[in-house]
Amino acid sequence: MSGKEINRKVVILGSGPAGLTAAIYASRAQLEPIVIDGPQPGGQLTITTDVENYPGFANGIMGPELMNQFRAQAERFGTEILNVWIDRVDLSERPFTLYAKESKDSEEISTLIKAETLIISTGASAKWIGVPGEEPAPVGLGGNGVSACATCDGFFFRGKDVVIVGGGDTAMEEAMFLTRFASKVSLMHRRDSFRASKIMQERVFKNEKIEIVWNTEIKEILGTKEAGVTGVRIFNNQTKETSEFPTQGVFVAIGHKPNTDLFKGVLEMDETGYLKTEGRTMKTNIPGVFACGDAQDHYYRQAITAAGSGCMAAIDAERFLVEHGEAVKQTQTNW
Ligand code: NAP
Repeated sequence: MSGKEINRKVVILGSGPAGLTAAIYASRAQLEPIVIDGPQPGGQLTITTDVENYPGFANGIMGPELMNQFRAQAERFGTEILNVWIDRVDLSERPFTLYAKESKDSEEISTLIKAETLIISTGASAKWIGVPGEEPAPVGLGGNGVSACATCDGFFFRGKDVVIVGGGDTAMEEAMFLTRFASKVSLMHRRDSFRASKIMQERVFKNEKIEIVWNTEIKEILGTKEAGVTGVRIFNNQTKETSEFPTQGVFVAIGHKPNTDLFKGVLEMDETGYLKTEGRTMKTNIPGVFACGDAQDHYYRQAITAAGSGCMAAIDAERFLVEHGEAVKQTQTNW
């Protein structure tokens, strides 16, 4: 087995707004951080369209463009970005060790990353409803008419009828986006009111292409490999009626799950997997390990709050290094 070992004072796991802001701060503090790209480099903003609420962009900015700017700013001050898959971590002693493979499917560990401090900004991933038919192809219709990303897949539903599930801002935003392509968008929600912000709800209510189907739960996604999605089996929880609703696409927009499985049993987390931090800091229960962004925040979950917490994590890491000394030399060796 051959590979390399990288030693760093600051290693940042994840390259969304939190991770790249941490990188901007750590690199400007001359800590020469390394950022490890996740499976979705740039994070969730790279699969969104207009970002209207990120301060500093009076006319809005496209999500991918905003993340390109974050990245360029981090690189400008010397941040190194590495695209590997972290298979497991050892946080039992400092420097911490991250075992990296070239990709998720690679057999062998190719890189050992030793980190004097670790900033976890692994973000969150879309949740699924968990009904038959939703599974990825070939078992179900996932990727064949079922999607959790309107921005990625909306284009394929030009002139078709689609269903979208959820009642939060994501569902409102994605329903609006889908009206650019679909002939009709049926927004199905399990209750009789939305939790989305008023402004987003109003836009949805005003959009003639969007039909709202209240008090409705999807029980199964119907279709075949050849035909794709043909409908959904739905249950009205008020009338207790079950029926079939014809549609050609299903978009799931019911929130997100933090990407923290790597740290189960090691770092303190709440019952849904969000990492716990101490008081107003970004410190986890292991000294030298910090958490920020959507992996740690189940409440605000905004690009701007993620960026703010990334800044805080970098400042916490910098202070930790000052207090504990910098035992690690920034090196890279082959083995
Ligand atoms: P969310 O606010 O947690 O909403 C999730 C929605 O999905 C809820 O309406 C929930 O129903 C429904 N749901 C959850 N599990 C379900 C299931 N198994 N079956 C059917 N429905 C289910 O998530 P989000 O919409 O992704 O928003 C997350 C955060 O990001 C929020 O803070 C939001 O403001 C923010 N965000 C902001 C923007 C923006 O400002 N442009 C855009 C997107 C997101 P119940 O209501 O019945 O619980």
